[in-house]
Amino acid sequence: MTANEIRDSFKKFFESKQHAIVPSAPMVIKDDPTLMFTNAGMNQWKDIILGTRDPEPRRRADTQKCLRVSGKHNDLEEVGHDTYHHTMFEMLGNWSFGDYFKEGAIDMAWEYLVDVLKLNPEDLYVTVFEGSPEENIPRDDEAAKYWAKHVPEDHIINGNKHDNFWEMGDTGPCGPCSEIHVDSRTPEQRKASGKSGRELVNQDDPQVIEIWNLVFMQFNRKADGSLEKLSMNVIDTGMGFERLVRMLQGKHSNYDTDIFQPIIKAQEQITGLKYTTFEEGEVSKEQDDINVAMRVCADHLRAVSFSIADGQLPSNAKAGYVIRRILRRAVRYAYTFLDQKESFLYKLVPTLVAEMGDAFPELKAQQQLISKVMKEEEDAFLRTLDKGIGMLNDAMEQLRKDQKTELDGVQAFRLFDTYGFPLDLTELICRENGFTVNEEQFNVEMQKQKERARNAAAVENSDWTELAEGEQQFVGYDYTEYECHILRYRKVTQKKNEFYELVLDYTPFYGEMGGQVGDCGVICNEAETIEVIDSKRENNQTVHIVKQLPKDPTAQFMACVDTVKRDASAANHTATHLLDYALKQILGEHVEQKGSFVSPDTLRFDFSHFQKVTDDEIRQVERLVNQMIRADIALEEYRDMPFEEAKKIGAIALFGEKYGDKVRVVCFGPSCEFCGGIHAKATGKIGFFKIVSESSVAAGIRRIEAKTGRECEELLYKTEDVLKAIRSFFNNAKDLQGVIQKYIGEHDAMKKDIELFQAQRVFNLSMELLEKARIINGVTVVTAKTVMMPNVAKDLVFKVRERHPENLLCVVGSVFENKPTLNVMLSDDMVQDRGLNAGQLVREAAKLMEGGGGGQPHFASAGGKNVDGLSAAIDKVIELANL
Ligand code: ATP
Ligand code: MG
Repeated sequence: MTANEIRDSFKKFFESKQHAIVPSAPMVIKDDPTLMFTNAGMNQWKDIILGTRDPEPRRRADTQKCLRVSGKHNDLEEVGHDTYHHTMFEMLGNWSFGDYFKEGAIDMAWEYLVDVLKLNPEDLYVTVFEGSPEENIPRDDEAAKYWAKHVPEDHIINGNKHDNFWEMGDTGPCGPCSEIHVDSRTPEQRKASGKSGRELVNQDDPQVIEIWNLVFMQFNRKADGSLEKLSMNVIDTGMGFERLVRMLQGKHSNYDTDIFQPIIKAQEQITGLKYTTFEEGEVSKEQDDINVAMRVCADHLRAVSFSIADGQLPSNAKAGYVIRRILRRAVRYAYTFLDQKESFLYKLVPTLVAEMGDAFPELKAQQQLISKVMKEEEDAFLRTLDKGIGMLNDAMEQLRKDQKTELDGVQAFRLFDTYGFPLDLTELICRENGFTVNEEQFNVEMQKQKERARNAAAVENSDWTELAEGEQQFVGYDYTEYECHILRYRKVTQKKNEFYELVLDYTPFYGEMGGQVGDCGVICNEAETIEVIDSKRENNQTVHIVKQLPKDPTAQFMACVDTVKRDASAANHTATHLLDYALKQILGEHVEQKGSFVSPDTLRFDFSHFQKVTDDEIRQVERLVNQMIRADIALEEYRDMPFEEAKKIGAIALFGEKYGDKVRVVCFGPSCEFCGGIHAKATGKIGFFKIVSESSVAAGIRRIEAKTGRECEELLYKTEDVLKAIRSFFNNAKDLQGVIQKYIGEHDAMKKDIELFQAQRVFNLSMELLEKARIINGVTVVTAKTVMMPNVAKDLVFKVRERHPENLLCVVGSVFENKPTLNVMLSDDMVQDRGLNAGQLVREAAKLMEGGGGGQPHFASAGGKNVDGLSAAIDKVIELANL
């Protein structure tokens, strides 16, 4: 079976078991402050598991794009070196939210692997949780009992907390799990090792690996570490697609399957090097380096491409930085082991898209952008790499001079920190040159930096204090004030600041999401008024941030949004929709939104477009948007439109955004978008729209910043004031442009006159000086002390040499604005035949005027502080020349 067929068979199987087949959530997570990337299939169901979202349908299955490169799951350093961990991989999963539990999950997994896919049951081993006396959790006998229906006892293995107790994070849902492992060793390997598959489970043997993990969530871990029962049992399973494909295609490395081979073949073609598969047996160290590098590139190509398609570009911060680091890791391997000194990865994009574009259409749609961003990133990093290697070479040169053999760890860390050189690369280059690196020192520096980062970011959350049961209702699309109670609250400590987070039963507050900032305002009753300084969105609900708790948290309150700010944000949000529409009209349909930011006083919109937007295009866009504003088009809003219907009416969805079955669609005339934000009731509320800047944020991505309404008014006044001030400089001239033009003309003419005058002066002076020159031992010695600008004095000595190109020593001291300058000029024969050096002469002589300088052998100059020393310095040059 091909990989694509295997993916389909999984979906078909679980469909036949009444599971709803759902799409993968984006790999990049945008609205969860606790997680940057999807690292397991369950991430997108977190709300359901935490009980803040409707669990229907209770059976679901999908294939989920995952990335394990940061936080709790970080496989980055393994990738390429082993053959079964990837950064980006697909996780096949099935879920039950309060429907079937352990028995159902175990039976279905077995049926799929053995009856449908025909894996050999003798090669399969399963693990169950051995229990934890200190937490008072017994062994998972229940799971063991159900497994015993399918496998002999000696294929059931007890596992410890590390492998067999799954936790979402430090707090939250958790429970025991059962893993399915496959012994995929060849008969020769089995014979040679003499060990049974059972002995090798969870022992990091590359041929006895876990393929599927069935998690039985039944507890909730609280902040104090204790466990309570979950209100609904949850089944969460995850199977590594690439590992499954490898088993079914009879391979011994994920990279030998049809998922990776085309990308590896493409690399062979470009580099002229060869990759060796598992079947080809043992290889030399050099060949192994090539193999590892090709695996790294194949893997990272996928991770970076999928991130870009999901809207996460490489950048300097947060998720963007993680992606940048993955890309740089691939570049380093290609540079070091595949001899690719120029951008390379981007050349593999067409192969990836040809292989995976059907299953993941976002790749196909954005192929051009992916290639472009990747190439630009590679080029930029290769330049840094060159600089870093230069720095390392200098450091090694110094070590040679000092007769040392060890590079200190602080330098190695600086290379890492500024040039992205990981320790192994620095070590590699050092080793090739006969040096070692002080690793201990490096680690100390690394630790220090980590602590700095941790102290800056440390956030401590206490447990939620529950005041009442229930889910929050958001009423902010219709109201800005609403009666409410506090459902729960908790204390948060960040950098010694303390604040509280509140969840209300009903709230009109819009929590920060989709680029629109959160509302602020108050919650109040007759007894007190509490300020809400911000609100954010977490687990599908608005969390209100307040500095203090109300005296009686159980009382009834009015939640009141600050409507001045809210209206301004809403107008700006609506303006971004009109802007998006206008850009597509004026620049073309390729314009895709790549990010946006909407606050009460500004709006920002990032989009894909491959060249600068011209001034003329900007005007056209502004005119179209303002036309739509004046047309005062009313908001048409559909709260619960089925996803498919929304697509049918042409509503624009964003790549990399997570949508449910029902979506909210916001239309203003011809502009229709999937959007959860707050909007103006009609476009007229925007007042006026003006773009204030257009720039590039990354390869192929432009950014527009714009103002609306009141902010435009301010902008207009500011411009008017500046204009008035300028006009006053020119006696309030009516024709300001004409007057300024005239001044510029006059200025240019004057500048030319002065240059001419200076040239004449220099010419005359050079004649004068040569007439007065002394001859010492056949050398014409010209000296002078003048008042003139340093650059004119320099012209003067060059002029003297032009007129007298042999046997010349010319020393001109000049004073300008009470600072001395010393110029020394020699004819070439003085340098060649007499071995004189203007640089040396000037450096020594300048000390007499408290200065320093240098230059070339035939001409040098120096500045100084002490004008009184200038004459002595001139004499000193003549003396040092020793004619
Ligand atoms: P391992 O111990 O092999 O790292 P894990 O315990 O981290 O696996 P889970 O978190 O249980 O794995 O994930 C479920 C399944 O996803 C695993 O059984 C495996 O098939 C797959 N998987 C996990 N990590 C990776 C990875 N980095 N690359 C490819 N597949 C993976
Ligand atoms: Mg792992």
